[in-house]
Amino acid sequence: MSSPPPTILLVEDEPFLRKGIRLNLEAEGYTVVDYDSADSALASQNSFAEISLGIFDIMLPGEIDGLELCRKIRSRTDFPVIFLTARSALTDKLEAFRAGADDYLTKPFELEELLMRVQVRLRSRPAMAVSETIGAFRLDLESGLATSSSGEVVRFNDREKKILRLLVQNRGRPVHRSDILDHAWSSAESPTNRTVDNYIVKFRKIFEKDPTRPRWFITRHGQGYELAAAEN
Ligand code: CA
Repeated sequence: MSSPPPTILLVEDEPFLRKGIRLNLEAEGYTVVDYDSADSALASQNSFAEISLGIFDIMLPGEIDGLELCRKIRSRTDFPVIFLTARSALTDKLEAFRAGADDYLTKPFELEELLMRVQVRLRSRPAMAVSETIGAFRLDLESGLATSSSGEVVRFNDREKKILRLLVQNRGRPVHRSDILDHAWSSAESPTNRTVDNYIVKFRKIFEKDPTRPRWFITRHGQGYELAAAEN
């Protein structure tokens, strides 16, 4: 069961930035359609039916800026939109969210952060594999059940599923503790980095042959936790 890769609509007038974002997204396996203005995006896309996520610059040449583009398409679609902008004033951010933004990144930003935000915004879309092998276990991210080759079954709760899903989506790369916190806890809760550590300890007890020498749930000092890439 493989679904087609998500298509991302990128509207950015700065050519080098547009190209850099497009190449990075394509390297992650996404399909990208990119435009240098809102007018050209609107002229070329009539239904936006193929689009899974939008990345819009706010300041764009032509009649329509990124905010107006978002307002125009919001009546027809509900894909998540991440704004990129040089403006960082609170009123601009609020205006972006009122226009229907799901997220907001102020220039200059690290491409790695944009990629992470794209993944987080797409996480509930059914594009990613729902089943993953970790050590001797097959983990089903929908049901939250992990089944070992010897028949042992472990059930994970919703919070554990969220953390595992984030690590699986970034498999082979470290995920910062703060991103795990953002992903798996609401802002009303007040977890600490230590809270995240406790979940990792639990995962190690389940998945690792020797939890004191983890093979899968690896600590990357200063960078967070990484689910090691699967062996071929
Ligand atoms: Ca611009």
